Amino acid sequence: MPTKSANDTTDLAAQVRAGDRRALAKAITLVESAKTADREAGEALLTTLLPETGKAFRLGLSGAPGVGKSTFTEAFGTYLTGAGHKVAVLAVDPSSSRSGGSILGDKTRMEKLSRDPNAFIRPSPTGGTLGGVARRTREAMLLTEAAGYDVVIVETVGVGQSEFAVADMVDMFGVLLAPAGGDELQGIKRGIMELADLIIINKADGDLLRPARVAAADFKGALGLIQPKYKGWKSDVRLVSSIEGTGIAEIWEVAESFRTALDETGERERLRARQAEAWLWAELRQGLSDALTRDKSLKKAIQSAEKAVAGGQKLAPAAARSLLAEFLARATS
Ligand code: GDP
Repeated sequence: MPTKSANDTTDLAAQVRAGDRRALAKAITLVESAKTADREAGEALLTTLLPETGKAFRLGLSGAPGVGKSTFTEAFGTYLTGAGHKVAVLAVDPSSSRSGGSILGDKTRMEKLSRDPNAFIRPSPTGGTLGGVARRTREAMLLTEAAGYDVVIVETVGVGQSEFAVADMVDMFGVLLAPAGGDELQGIKRGIMELADLIIINKADGDLLRPARVAAADFKGALGLIQPKYKGWKSDVRLVSSIEGTGIAEIWEVAESFRTALDETGERERLRARQAEAWLWAELRQGLSDALTRDKSLKKAIQSAEKAVAGGQKLAPAAARSLLAEFLARATS
């Protein structure tokens, strides 16, 4: 059961800090809870653990269904734990409540990794808006860091805006693609390439090796035309076969070079500072919008503004300004 008293929170914090997996799972359940008391306890817990957070390398991974995210994560995660790392795998998947199963919900897809004592896999919290799911995933990430996981992989299927949400909470953002036969690639979206620090072309084996190589050359060419995101880092393309295990170790080498390159210029620290600020503003926007929706005395005015805006009698900015003025006047009186 979720913990409520201050003492329990202190105990739970100590257990998480000690790397107790059950305590970590419980802590994540607490921050995912919709109950106010749980959320408050979750926030207190995160505040206590804040000094222990931030030490992991945060890697985002996006890929359409079928490109091999689970297979890759299983191979990559197992490689990392074999090299002495502690790996946490989290997911941002706002579609999971609708499709009835999250991308990581079925742990049998990562059979080895889910039994690995140095790996922690947490499916996406179900339901809610992308903003809500992203917030809970961020908080889960901080908790796994406090529990001593030094590599956190945040995955998404790339539904709607979820790539941007993931890119906004990680150090390095990778896009996983796979040749679908022929020369065309499965699962690439315009705009995502600009977001990618690394493009990983999976299934570079058997009959698919040749199209994978062709695709890699094409992407290298295309990436050369894109303005680099960071000083000192040029986005790269790598081939892997998650089934045969080829190229897996090299992905970690690239990740380490990325980290070194960004740390040398102070870029990673600045990136995290920007992300934390953006998170603050996302919370402020959400909080204000929730407060407005909850405000009973404004309900009528909001409804008539919605009607007037929808009917074209009023301009949205003007309607918003007068509603906000009314709301703020009441809040400060
Ligand atoms: P996800 O939906 O992105 O998580 O994809 P899965 O990991 O479930 O993989 C989808 C399919 O692609 C499965 O049938 C896998 O066996 C296959 N697959 C994954 N990785 C590779 C690979 O490296 N080579 C080949 N040939 N098939 C792969």
